[in-house]
Amino acid sequence: MGHLKVVIREQEGRARYTLAGDVDEAISQESFPATDLNEVILDLSGIMSFNSCGLREWIRWIQIFSSHHKVYFENCSVPTIDQMNMMPQTMGKGTVLSFYAPYYCETCGEVNQLVLMDRYAEMLRQKKAPDFSCETCGDVLCFDALAASYFLFADSRAG
Ligand SMILES: [Zn+2]
Repeated sequence: MGHLKVVIREQEGRARYTLAGDVDEAISQESFPATDLNEVILDLSGIMSFNSCGLREWIRWIQIFSSHHKVYFENCSVPTIDQMNMMPQTMGKGTVLSFYAPYYCETCGEVNQLVLMDRYAEMLRQKKAPDFSCETCGDVLCFDALAASYFLFADSRAG
């Protein structure tokens, strides 16, 4: 995939950051542009991986950034959620609005399903995977991870 790229768009008084690539040793605090807007949505659908150097810089950045802005995470990729579960500091004080979860379709194979936090908040707190059907063939999807670990981040409160 390659080093992290950040694209900013301003939309209805909010800043929308679209992040894509690998969070790796190429990251520095300058990789993350500043904004004057208070509310920031970080679209993390394109984040492919974290390594330890990248993660260290990320955590430094998000801790400070999320104490100066109201930060929401949208469309978090599976590697992002894995990282948030292993290390909650990855979220800073941000709030997850939506995320991808790994599911499996008997016919189509692996499917990453978008899950909206608001809609499934109660199930996620109980560590139950919501039911979905495959968008391609309509079959019932099976959740393809351990619900108790994958939905751990849903317990984190914005501070
Ligand atoms: Zn299918």
